[in-house]
Amino acid sequence: MRRVSVFGATGSIGVATIELLQSQGGAEAFGIVALTGGRNTDLLARQARALRAEVAVTAHEECLEDLRAALAGSGIEAAAGPAALAEAADRPADWTMSAIVGAAGLVPGFRALAHGTTLALANKESLVTAGPLLLAEAAKHGARILPVDSEHSGIFQALVGEDMAAVERIVITASGGAFRDWPMERLAQATVAEASTHPNWAMGQRITIDSASMFNKALEVIETREFFGIDPDRIEVLVHPESLVHALVGFADGALMAHLGPPDMRHAIGYALNWPARAQLPVARLDLAQIGRLSFSAPDPERYPALRLAREVMAAGGLAGAAFNAAKEAALDAFIAGRVGFTEMAAVVEDTLERLAGEGGLGIPLADLDNVVEMDRLARIRAGEVIAARSGR
Ligand code: NDP
Ligand code: MG
Repeated sequence: MRRVSVFGATGSIGVATIELLQSQGGAEAFGIVALTGGRNTDLLARQARALRAEVAVTAHEECLEDLRAALAGSGIEAAAGPAALAEAADRPADWTMSAIVGAAGLVPGFRALAHGTTLALANKESLVTAGPLLLAEAAKHGARILPVDSEHSGIFQALVGEDMAAVERIVITASGGAFRDWPMERLAQATVAEASTHPNWAMGQRITIDSASMFNKALEVIETREFFGIDPDRIEVLVHPESLVHALVGFADGALMAHLGPPDMRHAIGYALNWPARAQLPVARLDLAQIGRLSFSAPDPERYPALRLAREVMAAGGLAGAAFNAAKEAALDAFIAGRVGFTEMAAVVEDTLERLAGEGGLGIPLADLDNVVEMDRLARIRAGEVIAARSGR
């Protein structure tokens, strides 16, 4: 029986993963090791009971009592806090879903690699902050990482049986987000509610806002570079409002292989769950005659400064990815809290990176995870200073 753990089980990706596990036989077909969540302890307990998990972990100590109460009589262990999350990752599983949001997802995914798990990686922040460390850890333990981000799953699928040496370029698409058609001068006034609705995908709030600002695509460009080992100047971003073509791979002979599908993460999750086989999945089938036409355009650099910042981060290398992600998370928190405007998020990230570069801390090579965690902490402090200066508080 395949042993499975799901980190971030109560989120958008986690819930879809649990649904797929249940549709493929649930507790009869899989040995569920650990399920983890955050504040939604009721849902976590229901998932753990339904799948007969060994342990359920909440990220927050103050949620432990609620989780214990919700699991009463089930015989399922309950635990809380970042150390408990990491310990849950130490329990051997054959397949592990990494779907915690943000840098908090790095350590559990990394730790799971040590027992040779197949890591289904939705948490893009892991590759952005610590790509080389993650890949080296996987290689060391014979673990495999399968991308779950839809673009990267699409690239991975287009590359089956291909030689990376023949790859000329990789193109990832972006819907353009909630404000694609807004006049530029209105963007500064965009509210959190407006930024939290995506034209095509239903996702967690943070990634939805990151889609409107294109910080999500900026992270994905770095994720592409890290995962596929391709030069930054061979990675392109293409605005594609319909979100049906997820990625394209261009080869030396001029062929361009595209991955198409409905905007439904159950495809990429299900592909990773069943890889290298393909299983029947409950996603809509595209009717291209009905769709009629697909449209594409180049991203406007003025509208999406995050894409330029991603290029600068890749050029700097080392700890710049960890700094970029942490500054982005701090700027996003400040936007959600009403402390900075929508367009200010990019300015906060840029100012933070400039300060850190001035202190000489950015291009330092990645030695180990502690380096990354320390840069994450420092960048949040610097971003906090930048935000305080801007918001006058
Ligand atoms: P959600 O916000 O919907 O869910 C996040 C999950 O992480 C929840 O289980 C949440 O618990 C938990 N969590 C929140 N904070 C912490 C923390 N500090 N420590 C541990 N766990 C925590 O996110 P998504 O599912 O949208 O995204 C998850 C990851 O997948 C992200 O990295 C995202 O970029 C990536 N991704 C998502 C896609 C999507 O379609 N949603 C597409 C491609 C990639 P709780 O809710 O109980 O508080
Ligand atoms: Mg994506």
